[in-house]
Amino acid sequence: MRVEELESYGLRREYIHLLIKRGIEVLNPVQEEAVKGGLFSGLNIVVSAPTASGKTLVGEMGIVKAVQEGGKGVYLLPLRALANEKYDEFKALEELGFKVGISTGDYDSPAEDLEDKDVVIATYERFDSLLRIKPLWLRKVSTVVVDELHMINDPERGPVVEMIIARLRSLSARVIGLSATIGNPRELAEWLSAKLVDVAWRPVKLREGYYDKRSGSIVYADGGSEDVEDEFDDKILNLVSQSLSKGIQVLVFVHNRRRVEELAETTAALIGASKSKGLTSDVVERLSESPSRMEREKLLALMEKGVGYHHAGLSIQARRAVEEAFRARALSAVFATPTLAAGVNLPARRVIVSIKRYDPTSSKMVNIPVFEYKQMAGRAGRPRYDEIGEAIIADAKSEKEALKYINSGPENIVSKVSSERSLRIHTLSLIAGGDAGDLKKVMDIYSQTLGAKQYGGIEVFSNQVEKAIRALVEMRMVEELDGGLKATRLGKLTSFTYLDPLTVHYCIKYRPEDFDELDVLHLITTSVDYVRSRPYIPDSVVEVFEDEALHSGLARRVGLGRMSSVEIDNLITGYVHALVLRDWINEVDEDRIASKYEIGPGDLFTMRETVAWIAGSLAKIERLLGNVTFSTRLNRLSVRVQYGVKEDALELIRLRGIGRVRARILINHGIRTLQDLAKTPRSKLLSLPGFGVRLVESIYEELRSMGFRVEG
Ligand code: ADP
Repeated sequence: MRVEELESYGLRREYIHLLIKRGIEVLNPVQEEAVKGGLFSGLNIVVSAPTASGKTLVGEMGIVKAVQEGGKGVYLLPLRALANEKYDEFKALEELGFKVGISTGDYDSPAEDLEDKDVVIATYERFDSLLRIKPLWLRKVSTVVVDELHMINDPERGPVVEMIIARLRSLSARVIGLSATIGNPRELAEWLSAKLVDVAWRPVKLREGYYDKRSGSIVYADGGSEDVEDEFDDKILNLVSQSLSKGIQVLVFVHNRRRVEELAETTAALIGASKSKGLTSDVVERLSESPSRMEREKLLALMEKGVGYHHAGLSIQARRAVEEAFRARALSAVFATPTLAAGVNLPARRVIVSIKRYDPTSSKMVNIPVFEYKQMAGRAGRPRYDEIGEAIIADAKSEKEALKYINSGPENIVSKVSSERSLRIHTLSLIAGGDAGDLKKVMDIYSQTLGAKQYGGIEVFSNQVEKAIRALVEMRMVEELDGGLKATRLGKLTSFTYLDPLTVHYCIKYRPEDFDELDVLHLITTSVDYVRSRPYIPDSVVEVFEDEALHSGLARRVGLGRMSSVEIDNLITGYVHALVLRDWINEVDEDRIASKYEIGPGDLFTMRETVAWIAGSLAKIERLLGNVTFSTRLNRLSVRVQYGVKEDALELIRLRGIGRVRARILINHGIRTLQDLAKTPRSKLLSLPGFGVRLVESIYEELRSMGFRVEG
C-alpha cells in the first residue's frame, strides 16, 4: 500500500508528505495490515511483529489520527533511554504543528506543562504516576501506544503496564500495544478486546545457526554451513575471529559484564578488528565527556582498534559513543550484555549469542529463555545495508539444544500482577487516586488485568488483595470506614511519591533519632525500592565491610536477632552501597570510588538516581509527619546525592554549568555563594582551571536571570 492511500483513511496530506520526506513511500506489511485491520477506526490493536518491522509507525499513525481529531496521543516505553530516543523521532511531527512533549521523572509532579502538548512520550512508571495524580489534561488522552508490550512478563514493570491498561479502560482511551514476537499474542489481544495484527515479516531475512566446535563449523538451520578455524579454546573468540576475517561486523551477546570486557580486550589484542572507518570526532568528543578517566582511556584504546563493549556499568556518554561508532562502522565487533538488546536499536550484520548465564540463586549455569534469544537474534540484519542477517548460537550443548532455540516459538507472556509487592503498591494507588472507594471497586479494576484472565478469574487472587489491604491498614495508609476504603494523608502522599508503601513504612519505623548521613543512606539502601534496582557490587568487596555493617546503627535498631539471613545479607550489601554514596557526597573522585568498590560510572549513576528520588520523597513524608528538621536534611541529602557534593556546595551547584568539580574549585578560591560569584571579576574566573569564556558568559547570564547584579 502506498502512503498516498492513507488520505482516504483520513490522514492529512501534510503528514503524508512528511512520511515521503522521511523516505517512507510504501507501508510495510505490518503497517498495511494494521491500517486495513482498523487502525483508524478506534479499535484497540495488538501488533506482534519482529524487531525493525516498522511497529513504531503503526503507533505513530494512530497518534496522528487521534491528534487530528482533537485528542492527545501518548506513547509509552519501559526505559528512559528509549523514551528519549522516541522523543527525538517524534519531534518530526512538529512540522505538522503538533506539540510534542516528554515526561520521564518527577513522579509527584502533575506535569502541567504537558497540558498543551498533543503528543506525550513517557515511561510506564511516569504515566502510572500521572494516572494517580490525574491532571485535567489526562481526559483529552484518546490514544495510548504501549510499546514493548511483552514487558508484561517482567516482574517489576509488568504489573505497572497491566494496571495502566486496566485504568485506561475507564478513561475510554484506546490502546495500541506493540510487541516483538511473543508466544501468546492472541491471548493478549483477547484480553484487550483488540484486533490482533500478527505478522512475521522482517525487512531483512534472518538466517539462524549454531557453532559446532567439533566439526569446526557454523551449521545453519537452512542446511548451509561455514568453516570456523579452531584457534582458541573459547568458542566465542573462534566465531569472532572467523567473522572479522571475512569482514563481517559482529554484535556479541554474553551475560556477564566482566566477560564482556575480557572478550573485547582479547579480541583487540589477539585478533585485531580491521575496521572500514576511523572514529569520528563526534564519537571521540562524546567519549571525552565520560565522567571516568579509567573508562575513557580503556574504551578509547579498544575503540581505536575497532572493538567496543557495552553494559550497564558504563556511563551514558560511553554507551552512546560505542553505539554511534558501531552504527558508523568504526567498530567491527561490539561485546554487550543483553541490556543492549532490550534497549537501543542497534542492528548488526551478524549477531553471536551465548545462551548460558550464571544463576546466582542456584549457583549454576542455566539456559536463557527462548524469548531472550529471539530478542537478541532479532538484532541481526541492518535494513538498507544487508540482504541477510545472521544469528549464531555460540555455546549450545548439542544440536538439539540449539534447534530448540531456533525452531520453537518464544514463551507465553504471564501476568505478574498478583505478586505481594504489586498488590500492595497498586491497591494503595487505586484507593489513594480515587479510583476505588471499596473492596468491590478495587476488585472490579483488578478484574480488567491480564492476571484475572490468566489465573481463571479474580477470585483466585482476591485473598491476596484483602491481605494487601490489611497490611496497608496496619501501615496507617488506608482506613476502613463504613464498609468503604479511604486513603489516609500518609497513604495518599506515599502513592503520589511513587514509593512502595513498604519503603515508607520501613524508613519511618527505623529512622535514626539524629540525622547521620551514613546511617540515613544505609536506611535508604536497604529499602525495597532501592533493592529492586540495586547495581551489583562483587562479594569480595562486600565481605570486607561485613563486620562494620553488623555493628551499624541500623543493625542495632532493627535487631540482628529478628532478621532472617536474607535480611542480614541485605543489611550488609546495603551498607556497602551507603559507603559508596557517602564517598560520593563527600566529593571523593569518581574513579577512586569505582576502583575501591569495583563498580562502573553507570552503576553509580543508577545508585544516585534511585537514592535522590527516595530521599526527596521521604523528605515530603517526614514533613507531613511534622519532622521538619529531618525533612530538610533529607532534602539536602537528596540534592547532594544527585550532584555528589558536600553541603557547602549546594548553592553553587544550582547553576547549570557548575558540577561538583568546578564548585569545589570556586569554594577553594573563596567564592562560596552565588552572590560571591556575581561579584567576581571576569578575569579571575577565567584564570580558574576549567572555566572558559563560553562557560563564564553563560554563568553570568544565568546569574542575571536569577536577579543578581553581575559586576564581572
Ligand atoms: P520496530 O519498532 O518494529 O522495531 P521500527 O519502527 O523502529 O521497527 O522501524 C525500523 C526502521 O524502519 C526505522 O528506521 C523506520 O524509520 C523504518 N521504516 C519503518 N516503516 C518503514 C516503511 N514503510 N518504509 C521504509 N522504512 C520504514
